[in-house]
Amino acid sequence: MSENLYDILAARFPADRAQPCFIRLGEAAISYGDLEVAVAQTAGHLVRKGVGAGDRVALQAPKTWQAVAVYLATLKAGAVFLPLNTAYTPSEVEYFLADAEPALFLTDAEAFVAEAADAPPLETAVACSASDLAAIIYTSGTTGRSKGAMLTHGALTANALALHEAWGFSPDDVLLHALPIFHVHGLFVALHCAFLSGCPMVWLARFEDDAVLEGLAKSTVMMGVPTFYTRLLANPGFTRERASHMRLFVSGSAPLLESTFLEFEERTGQPILERYGMSEAVIITTNPLRGERIAGSVGYPLPGVELRIGGGAETGVIEIRGPSVFSGYWRMPEKTAEEFTADGFFVTGDVGRKDPDGRVWISGRAKDLIISGGYNVYPKEVELVLDELPGVVESAVIGAPHPDFGEGVVAVVIGEGREADLIAQARERLAAYKSPKRVFFVDELPRNAMGKVQKNLLRDRFADAFA
Ligand code: AMP
Repeated sequence: MSENLYDILAARFPADRAQPCFIRLGEAAISYGDLEVAVAQTAGHLVRKGVGAGDRVALQAPKTWQAVAVYLATLKAGAVFLPLNTAYTPSEVEYFLADAEPALFLTDAEAFVAEAADAPPLETAVACSASDLAAIIYTSGTTGRSKGAMLTHGALTANALALHEAWGFSPDDVLLHALPIFHVHGLFVALHCAFLSGCPMVWLARFEDDAVLEGLAKSTVMMGVPTFYTRLLANPGFTRERASHMRLFVSGSAPLLESTFLEFEERTGQPILERYGMSEAVIITTNPLRGERIAGSVGYPLPGVELRIGGGAETGVIEIRGPSVFSGYWRMPEKTAEEFTADGFFVTGDVGRKDPDGRVWISGRAKDLIISGGYNVYPKEVELVLDELPGVVESAVIGAPHPDFGEGVVAVVIGEGREADLIAQARERLAAYKSPKRVFFVDELPRNAMGKVQKNLLRDRFADAFA
């Protein structure tokens, strides 16, 4: 039996390949057969271009079904997929390309798949073992340098099978897919569940209210970040009737507010299923499909995942071990060693606790990570950019509650200048979700005895930045 993830997914494609895979509003559907043919040709095209087993294929491209074909073709060719956020600026992309040294960097998946039409199709996937690398997912580092989390065919397969089972996927499902596909949530969690059940997806390029409302009437499962749910609730067109075709709403990537969970349940009669994951392990815990989903809790570890609280106290940093945990940071053996315990648990950096029955609660982040609209922003990276700008002496970047994005990036700056100018200058060098949305000028920053800026005090002081 092949351990190539593509073979494992394709073995579950529907027997009738004419079944739709991507249902697009206002456009013809793409069938499983169309996808399979495109994957074989694109894999053949990759081979023709000299891409071999273990080579990286980087893709920074709009969300299209062809981008999915490039992902699957990369797996099929035994190469390593490297998705890049479409919001990254050229200077950010430069770093990833220098670090990962891909054999190929693609920005137009549609053109690449079209070019592949005359390539000899790769009919049989390149044999690989469970321990071979399938993907590298860059996550920003607290030091400002991004780290590439290495995920194997075996890790992704284990997680996909566990989720497919836990969430009760069947060929009768239709998945509403409105997430980006450069992040583990939309790329692995959502796509793999759909492929393993051979079910169709309502395929939306982005979360856009009207399209989502239309899609919900045709779908049974939606996966989203908390922002999706607050947006739906803000829309009067989102009624109990609208949601009545759906059997499951899943939320993750950032904490779901209890108020959102309760309001959603009141509006639709359905409790959102919250789960917890990260690039380094895909999904770690989930609330139950059958059984109580509790607001504020991320549920139970997936089968096979060992989860413990480090440090011996009731609340502490969550540590995990299991088949879907990543195998280290790309070309950073020392950083990797630092983040694993001697007995092989990965130290997540998230702070939480575990009930005696195994239910997990997350209370915060050990590091000062900001999550804006579901995307991680590491303050250090933004501070490094701000500190280079004329007039800025020093900066401290924090997250403040934001009605739409969960958290918004706020910069507290010692120096001179205008808020609008600093925002514009930062935006030239940083993706929009990382750029400060507010800048406050101060005479000094609060510091502890060790000289470390006390961000908790800043968070309190600027809590109303977006009120
Ligand atoms: P990423 O690597 O971009 O997927 O981000 C992973 C981080 O998102 C985790 O380490 C958590 O801090 C946060 N996260 C993901 N899901 C949840 C959740 N359900 N509740 C709270 N934080 C979450």
